[in-house]
Amino acid sequence: MDYNIPQVEQASISIHNSSERFPIRRIYCVGRNYRAHAIEMGADPDREDPFFFMKPADAIVENGATISYPKMTSNFHHEIELVAAIGKGGINISLNDALNHVWGYGVGIDLTRRDLQNQAKKAGRPWDMGKGFDKSAPCTALRSVDDVGHPDTGTGSIWIKVNDEIKQESTLDLHIWNTAETINYLSGFCELMPGDLIYMGTPDGVGPVVSGDTMKGHIDGVGDIVINIA
Ligand code: MN
Repeated sequence: MDYNIPQVEQASISIHNSSERFPIRRIYCVGRNYRAHAIEMGADPDREDPFFFMKPADAIVENGATISYPKMTSNFHHEIELVAAIGKGGINISLNDALNHVWGYGVGIDLTRRDLQNQAKKAGRPWDMGKGFDKSAPCTALRSVDDVGHPDTGTGSIWIKVNDEIKQESTLDLHIWNTAETINYLSGFCELMPGDLIYMGTPDGVGPVVSGDTMKGHIDGVGDIVINIA
């Protein structure tokens, strides 16, 4: 019997200075992880535990890509974020051990159909169509921990420009929940596995991009990302 079962390609992302690729299992994203961004979204950052949403693994987009303006939105936003890549899985990972589970880091953009996200919030519906759409997760080639250490244990800067105009600018120490705390907390809900990415949340200054725009993002020590909108 031949069922003609289609083969599905494993989603993956480049590794800095390597021809090997990092296979992606899941993409977790932390919501409202900078005080000023939580406030600009109308939330109270002092009353919240971290919360998470997800994007499909194949939403990943390589650095340097030109993507189409997505369907079904007229308010398409950039969110520059540190991305942590899990190399060793675990459940109920302790705070002290958490960073030993990280393989490396990248610079990501959590692309968002803000109008769909806002409609979903208002209706008490899931965010998936606002957050987890095709090509919604650009990320640079990952750099290993041996190469970059753990960026949000320091005060490195994170910023994004649209057409050379600075839109978001902050530092990594201002994460409300740092990478270790996030892994500790998230691994209480889900077993983390090698290949999981965590988009660590964005500073304030999120805003729209339109066709023809170029986004240039940077995180000290981690890299630079450039994404064009066709
Ligand atoms: Mn985000």
